[in-house]
Amino acid sequence: MKLSLIIPCYNEQENVCAFYDAAAAAFAQNAWSYELIFVDDGSSDATLRELEALYKKAPETVRVISFSRNFGKEAAIFAGLKAAKGDFVGLIDADLQQRPEVMAGMLELLLDEPDYDCVAACQRERKEGGLLRGLKKGFYRMIDCMADVRFQENASDFRVFRREMADAILQMGEYHRFSKGIFAWVGFRTKFIAYDVQERAAGKTKWSLRKLFSYAFEGILSFSTAPLHVATMLGMCSSLAAFVYLIAVIIQKLTCGIDVPGYATIVVLLLFLGGLQLMGLGIIGEYIGKIYEQSKNRPIYIMRRMLGVKENNDAEAEAADGKAL
Ligand code: UDP
Ligand code: MG
Repeated sequence: MKLSLIIPCYNEQENVCAFYDAAAAAFAQNAWSYELIFVDDGSSDATLRELEALYKKAPETVRVISFSRNFGKEAAIFAGLKAAKGDFVGLIDADLQQRPEVMAGMLELLLDEPDYDCVAACQRERKEGGLLRGLKKGFYRMIDCMADVRFQENASDFRVFRREMADAILQMGEYHRFSKGIFAWVGFRTKFIAYDVQERAAGKTKWSLRKLFSYAFEGILSFSTAPLHVATMLGMCSSLAAFVYLIAVIIQKLTCGIDVPGYATIVVLLLFLGGLQLMGLGIIGEYIGKIYEQSKNRPIYIMRRMLGVKENNDAEAEAADGKAL
């Protein structure tokens, strides 16, 4: 086995068969063997049925993992990594925005260049509105300033890496998974190549602006404690300003006999400082929330069905007809 390709699928009933055909055509001429690990992330449409049909058609290459509900793409990637048996592991979307032919080229590149552990694709040009593009650029700037690891702008999850890197990622069992950060954190030598993202074959994107914001926020909280330092700095600055103002008021009173300014100043200062304190508390609260969720030690996903795959890589594939858990 050479390549294990992980394909997270959430409501992709129109795409999975087309993806399989495209992948089979793209990998047909290559010398290496491959397995396609489809992870059905709790789809509510006929995705699982389509995947079961694919498994019946090609049980030697198709593996299917199905979740009990929607756990998110990050959880799907983690489940796929656990099931992957290949010397190389690739990640690709099911909607054909990322082409299997490009994946084949990326693997060839990795095979040719033993110095590299990972080949990752960067979107050459984002086919998005100006606002979204600006927001994403702003996010990369911000997280680069705050986090200890370097984030590659426009790098997607579309990548292929060696077994050693897959094992390193599997060691990171955190509940809140932010794969861009995880890839950067584990290190390894990564070659970035530019690629043109295609239009979605069918269906629509699962990302809303709200989801993108919470994902970005999650990334900052998972890979940086800088917001806590910002709260500390703001607290110190406002204390210093208050002290300077106090001295000025005392001098005014002693030299000119001016009374302490009245109501408006006090209300503004009270609101300003109250706001700062709440903001600081909120930031601390966000981190405590993450600690709370991690400390519950809940599994990252729950599996409902598996076809052709057994978790932990410790046994051969399940019986050819699959087994309900
Ligand atoms: N996906 C998933 N779980 C989710 C959302 C998305 O497994 O909760 C999968 C989806 O089926 C697709 C990939 O992740 O294969 C990328 O999703 P999408 O195309 O919606 O994202 P975009 O390409 O718009 O960034
Ligand atoms: Mg997509």
